Amino acid sequence: MIKKLIVAIAMLILIGTVASARFIPKGVIIHEFPTDNDFIEIYSKNLTETEVIKQFKSIGLPVKSIEVSERNGYTVFTIHTSIGDKIDIFKRRIDGRILAELSKLGEVYIYIDKGCTIRGDIQLVESGNFQDLYKVVGHSDITYEVRKDLLVKLLAVFIVIPISSFLLSRYYARKVFSSNLSREEKLYRIRRLATFIPILIALILAYLMILLNSTTIYDMITGYFFGYNKTLFAIGFLGIWVLIYTVSMLFVTIGYLPYYRMLKKEEIKPGKTAKYSALVILMLIVPMLIWIILMFNLPKTVTSNTEFVVIIFVIFMLALMSMSPNLISLFQRAESLRTPLRDEIIEFCKRSGVKISDVKVLKDLPEKFANAGVSGVLHKYVFLTETLIDNFSKEEIMAVIAHEIGHLKEKHNLISGIYIITFFVIWIYASKLIDLSNLSPYSFMALWFTVILAFFLILGRIMVYLEFRADRYAVKVVGRELYIKALSKLAEINVMKRKTGKLFNLFTLHPSIEERIRKLLDS
Ligand SMILES: [Zn+2]
Repeated sequence: MIKKLIVAIAMLILIGTVASARFIPKGVIIHEFPTDNDFIEIYSKNLTETEVIKQFKSIGLPVKSIEVSERNGYTVFTIHTSIGDKIDIFKRRIDGRILAELSKLGEVYIYIDKGCTIRGDIQLVESGNFQDLYKVVGHSDITYEVRKDLLVKLLAVFIVIPISSFLLSRYYARKVFSSNLSREEKLYRIRRLATFIPILIALILAYLMILLNSTTIYDMITGYFFGYNKTLFAIGFLGIWVLIYTVSMLFVTIGYLPYYRMLKKEEIKPGKTAKYSALVILMLIVPMLIWIILMFNLPKTVTSNTEFVVIIFVIFMLALMSMSPNLISLFQRAESLRTPLRDEIIEFCKRSGVKISDVKVLKDLPEKFANAGVSGVLHKYVFLTETLIDNFSKEEIMAVIAHEIGHLKEKHNLISGIYIITFFVIWIYASKLIDLSNLSPYSFMALWFTVILAFFLILGRIMVYLEFRADRYAVKVVGRELYIKALSKLAEINVMKRKTGKLFNLFTLHPSIEERIRKLLDS
């Protein structure tokens, strides 16, 4: 099923790439963006850099930067400038006199975002990716504005999708609730819905946004408010996707929560659940934000050099890994354990050859959940939930801790770090081979989706394998009988179905309890 899905998406990209053999304009090519990030490319056989700069001065266009390169026997001048005037948020104008002056240097072409109403002496040459290519055939002003019907459609999508996801979630949860399935199975089905539906909704929204040409609307709005600030532009773009995902997750949660609460037989407050999820998402987003800020603000000589970018990424990942305990404590309420158990855990780790800085208890979880984890590189921390401490005997807690020691001793966090770095390096070199601007919007999206999906599926595979390794280590320390008892208790307290689906396991980065126990009994 997963393999078929990936193959299907790969085919889509291939078709999209082949289908988008494009017309390459020569002469003066204007790339007009609502972000003031415009640039003009001039293909010439006889102009010099000094002449080009002089021409631009006489036209009255600012030259923010100029790059000279060779392409197909032409000298190509890439000039960063701002050519269009902002009239209002959704409307731009390019002066006809400037176009007349530029036409002295060659035929003038212009790329304009899709989904706009355009006026002026221009002819559509090619309907392209996120933009259309026009040829300037006269010297009138060119004005273009975002079509208002797109705004209405986009608004409709943003209302309809969250509401429908709420209704779908509520309907499904009710159906599951009133079925004859076991309590574990019912909870598992709802959890599965909660894992996959927000991803699906975010994907549908992404496609609809392209279908409706609404990337233009985004360009216009951010261009108007943030202008040339690329960092804010990129953060805003990331923000849209996070917002879409968060909103759909929120509506799905509100949908199933009443039934989930009854099945779990505990009071789960929607506000607390929402706050917790938002903080977890934020915890994942903050590193991405830092990366964006780094990439847009470091000198261009550094960021345009692939090897430098890779080195910075490695340093960034190492810093992130060693700071992860701080990140957890920043976004979740974690307090030091203050019972004698703390010293016993630290002593237990020490005997296994692992130095632990502290044992922390995660507070304010939205629901009862027995779990433990470790984090950190130089200073290592053990995290436990209150439910685990309250319901497990000391021996069972130590069995769970032994599993975590297994992760630490075999340096599993380093392994997943190396995987992330490897994936990043492959992606960065692969993306240099494919000209992404040549992809149609759908294959562009399909490519991204495939890359992200592949990243998580491979990560899932690795994590599942590492879980088995940690289990094996724990058994060596505390014995098979006690360890299996602790695993069974985890499933029991968390009302977790013992046998869960493969895709679910990969996305939640954990094998099912049944598989874990079976592996231990086989060995
Ligand atoms: Zn583990």
